[in-house]
Amino acid sequence: MKEHFFPQNEKILTFREDEAAAEYAEDATEIEVTPSELDALDVLKRVFLEGKFADPYFAARCKNCTIIPIDGDPPNVPPARTLKNFEATDWERITETCLACGQCTFVCPTCHCFDFRESGKSRFRVWDSCMFAKFTLHASGHNPRGTKAERFRQRVLHKFVYLPRNIGRVGCSGCGECSRACPVGIDILKVVNFS
Ligand code: SF4
Ligand code: SF4
Repeated sequence: MKEHFFPQNEKILTFREDEAAAEYAEDATEIEVTPSELDALDVLKRVFLEGKFADPYFAARCKNCTIIPIDGDPPNVPPARTLKNFEATDWERITETCLACGQCTFVCPTCHCFDFRESGKSRFRVWDSCMFAKFTLHASGHNPRGTKAERFRQRVLHKFVYLPRNIGRVGCSGCGECSRACPVGIDILKVVNFS
């Protein structure tokens, strides 16, 4: 579902001699979505369309798409958390075996971090992951989230503490895709449910 509205790799600009022309998706599309996916889409819509700056690329894909609801698992949305009782050593213990591979974020239907790449006369928006070691690496060489524990902590707090403040709900539908995809079995739902 996510890649339909927020593709892994989307051409967003073409540079011409004296201007840069934005490229928006124009084709009419349709997609079948389960109740759980619909809930995840609600997160993406709040992030990309609400607030001061609506994302025109995401908006164009929504405008041209017919959503067909189908049967499936209902969302199992965890509540917002404070996670104040978590110490640095708890995050270190949880992420001891993390490979920083980013799979959990790529399969997550609500994760929406991105980066830009340029090739020839085109600029692309591509998925990125807050679990990658270089995600927050500054040009100076300083990295404010240089450890796996700091990055996983940010991922959890973003979904369950910051997004409820910023968009009015948690950034999770409870689908469990992240823990099923994780090669070392790290389960974000266990972390938030036991916190
Ligand atoms: S359970 Fe995992 S994959 Fe599913 S929405 Fe929540 S964080 Fe994303
Ligand atoms: S999928 Fe698992 S191992 Fe890979 S970055 Fe996510 S938590 Fe770490």
